[in-house]
Amino acid sequence: MSDRIYNFSAGPSMLPLEVLEKAGREITNYQGSGMSVMEMSHRSKVFQKIFDDTKAKFKKLMNIPDDYEVLFLQGGASTQFSAIPLNLIGATGKADYALTGNFSTLAYKEAKKYGDIAVAASSEAANHTYIPTQDQLVVRPDASYFYYCANNTIYGTEWNYVPETGDVPLVCDMSSDICSRVVDVSKYGVIYAGAQKNLAPAGLTIVIVKKSLAGHQLPFTPLMLDWQTQIKKDSMYNTPPCWCIYMLGEVLTWLESMGGIEGMEKIKHGKAQMLYDVLDDSKLFHCCATDKASRSDMNVTFRTDSNEMDQKFVAESTAAGFANLKGHRVVGGMRASIYNAMPVEGVEKLCEFIKKFDKENA
Ligand SMILES: *Cc1c(COP(=O)(O)O)cnc(C)c1O
Repeated sequence: MSDRIYNFSAGPSMLPLEVLEKAGREITNYQGSGMSVMEMSHRSKVFQKIFDDTKAKFKKLMNIPDDYEVLFLQGGASTQFSAIPLNLIGATGKADYALTGNFSTLAYKEAKKYGDIAVAASSEAANHTYIPTQDQLVVRPDASYFYYCANNTIYGTEWNYVPETGDVPLVCDMSSDICSRVVDVSKYGVIYAGAQKNLAPAGLTIVIVKKSLAGHQLPFTPLMLDWQTQIKKDSMYNTPPCWCIYMLGEVLTWLESMGGIEGMEKIKHGKAQMLYDVLDDSKLFHCCATDKASRSDMNVTFRTDSNEMDQKFVAESTAAGFANLKGHRVVGGMRASIYNAMPVEGVEKLCEFIKKFDKENA
C-alpha cells in the first residue's frame, strides 16, 4: 500500500503489513464464523482455538520449557511492576533491581512498597548511556529475585548478556525486544512484555512464569494480579484481550515465515548496524548510548550538538515521510524505533535521508 509511511514510533508501533491486511479481510467474518473476533465470546470454540493455537505457536517460537506457563493478561507491562513483587517477594522479603533506564526505575519504586529492595547496579549517574557489566552487579544471595529490563526503550541501550545470579531467579522486562533475539527461557524465572512494541496491538501483556515460582503471593495480592489464579484459569478468569491475542497469533505466523526468532535476530541486527554505521560516519550526529557494546538494536537514539538542528532534522524527516523520529522528552534528540515489523527498506531509506541531511547541514 503506497499510502503507508515509515513509522518509527517507540510504541504502539508498526505491525507487519500482511498481518494488517489479513486482519482487514477477516474483520467482519472470521473464517466463516459469521462474526468478527472482536464480537465473539471468549468461551466460544472458535476463540478457544485461536487462543490455544496462539499460545502453542508462542511456546514453540520462544522454545519455552514445559515447566513454564504463558499468561495473556491485561494492564500493560506497568501492571506487572506491582504483580512481580506481590507474587515473588514473599520468598525472602528482599529483591534486587538493576536501574538502567526509565522503566526499571519505575518498577523499582513500585517494588519498594512491598519489601526490602536494593539497587544491584545503576547507570543513572551517566544518564543511562551504558549497561552495567556482570562485575558491577551486586546481587544478594538471599534476594527473592533479581530484576532487569532487557532493552531500555527510551535511552536506547540493551543488555547484550544474561546476568549470572546463582540461585536468585531472574525477572526480566522484555517489552521492547521480545522475539527480536533468541532467549534461553530456562535461565529465567519470569519474562514479561507489553505486546505493543514488537508483537501485537496495545492491550495485551504476556507473562512467562516458571510454575514453581507461582503460588507464593503476598496474602493481600489483588486477585487479578495473582499469577496462580491466572495459571489455574489459563488466563481466562475474566475476559482476556481477545482481539490482541488473535493479532499476536497472526504476527507469530508472520515471524515464522521470516525464519522464526533466529531469522529475525539476523535481520534486526543488520538493520541496526546499518543505521549505527551511518550515524558513526556522519559529521553531525552522535549516538546517545555512548558505550557501543550497550547499543540497542531496537531503539536507536541519536542527536546533534544543537537543539535547533535536532528540531530541523525532526521537521524535515517528518515531511519526507519518516514518522515519529523525535526522541522521548526525557532524553531529547532523536529516536528511531526499528522493531521487527520495520522493513529493511524503511531503514535503508532513513539512512539515505540521514546521509543527505548530514551533507547539507554539516
Ligand atoms: C513501553 C514499556 C513499558 C510500559 O508498557 P505499558 O504496557 O505501557 O505499561 C515497560 N517497559 C518497557 C521496557 C517498555 O518499553
